[in-house]
Amino acid sequence: MTQLTFFEPRLSPETVALARGIPGVCIFVNDACNAAVIADLAQHGTKIIATRSAGYNQIDLAAAKQHIPLVHARVWAMTGLLSTFWPGRGPCLACAGLETPDNHHPALLSPLPGIMGALQALEVLRLLGGLGPALLGRVLIFKGDQFNFTEKFIRSNPQCPVCAA
Ligand SMILES: [Zn+2]
Repeated sequence: MTQLTFFEPRLSPETVALARGIPGVCIFVNDACNAAVIADLAQHGTKIIATRSAGYNQIDLAAAKQHIPLVHARVWAMTGLLSTFWPGRGPCLACAGLETPDNHHPALLSPLPGIMGALQALEVLRLLGGLGPALLGRVLIFKGDQFNFTEKFIRSNPQCPVCAA
């Protein structure tokens, strides 16, 4: 059985002890997921980091060398993206070079983050359950205006500074 625990304090080097021993964490927009936090999480058994409305600017790229997979979802306007990044096993988030349009509107439809979040949770449960990632090396794209899913395949970038570090 999977148990979800919500912590009111923001994730930071001062609060990371709360998450020790938890196999997967999901960070939100105000959480700090720097190298110190990721090293602590990895040392104490965390195997997956998921993001919810959090950009990779919140995740120390050098800490990706801890080889913790990142299940990443983002939404804007009527579009949602979802992918899994796992340095050492496939492309990292920096390899993917995913762009969000500069003049984008926030997600207009409240179900959109829910759709992408539910799929993100499914991918996290696949990883925690040992099924392996479904979205390593590909990005699932949902277009709410066209009401369809498409996918884009991505590869590790041999010039990627994160993967090469
Ligand atoms: Zn990379």
